[in-house]
Amino acid sequence: MANEILYSIGETPLKDLIKAKNADKDSSYYCPDCKQPFILRKGLKKRPHFAHKSVSPNCTPESALHYSFKTLLHNKIQYHLDQNLPLNIHWKCNICNDVHKGNLLKKATMVRLEHDLGVCRPDIALLDKNGKAIAVIEVVVTHKPSQSAIEYYRNNKVIPILYILKADQDVDRLNYESLRPDSIDLCTNPKCSKCGHYMQKKQLIIVDSSCWKCHSQMKVALVIADIQIDLDILSSEDIQTANEHGCFFNKQYSQFINNTYLANTCRNCNNFIGENFLPDYLLFPTLKREVIDIGFFCLYCVNKIKTQKS
Ligand SMILES: [Zn+2]
Ligand SMILES: [Zn+2]
Ligand SMILES: [Zn+2]
Ligand SMILES: [Zn+2]
Repeated sequence: MANEILYSIGETPLKDLIKAKNADKDSSYYCPDCKQPFILRKGLKKRPHFAHKSVSPNCTPESALHYSFKTLLHNKIQYHLDQNLPLNIHWKCNICNDVHKGNLLKKATMVRLEHDLGVCRPDIALLDKNGKAIAVIEVVVTHKPSQSAIEYYRNNKVIPILYILKADQDVDRLNYESLRPDSIDLCTNPKCSKCGHYMQKKQLIIVDSSCWKCHSQMKVALVIADIQIDLDILSSEDIQTANEHGCFFNKQYSQFINNTYLANTCRNCNNFIGENFLPDYLLFPTLKREVIDIGFFCLYCVNKIKTQKS
């Protein structure tokens, strides 16, 4: 089984954690979780791992992985705090679908394992200079944080960061320069001034293509927002930006919607590209394209306007 969790980390007599692949047969190792003696197994069938010398009924590879991962992560954070180094963190945002970046240690001055918060003891807590928990890291192998813990985090403005481990090889995720947890309930985008929802990033994509009718060169602008392609959310400044980058937006009449709208137009023959055909321009990865960040928009307000119209 590829995803079988093995005891892939052992503890040395000096309490250092070591990967089985880096361990040698002549040294002694102990289980990081139950502290019983380990033997090293480097065979042909399975990747290097440890096994208890004698049966340890209350110990599981999952609990040992949980212990090892949180300890190694804690040590990494402590090292960055000691050295006064930033610790970059990347996450896919559940709120806006974008990838955000930040420095985990912007406000944190202390890191604690199993810090007692009354209702819960998160695996790792980051504290500010006043000793208040500002973020917690939960390492999930079998147990997700309890509902009461999640509520506590929400009510006390503690940011929950989740690592979900599926294999003992997941400890290698700590080798990355920046932390890449599985989820953080935190959006760093600005909020809409009208409705208060988080806004979404807008990107203008300009594809080097040619006119479908006269075949002369033509730059085609698309806007990507929340994975959708939607020219409706382009502001007049955005249109100007596109035109400055070689596109040509012109008012065109569409029989389909019985209305005029701004469309990507060929400078040579004045033919335009209907909105329904725009996604096709993303299908050809060989076409040169430029991506320009053009700020944010509120998906909530846009959808509200659209439902009012229809
Ligand atoms: Zn054990
Ligand atoms: Zn976000
Ligand atoms: Zn809004
Ligand atoms: Zn043309």
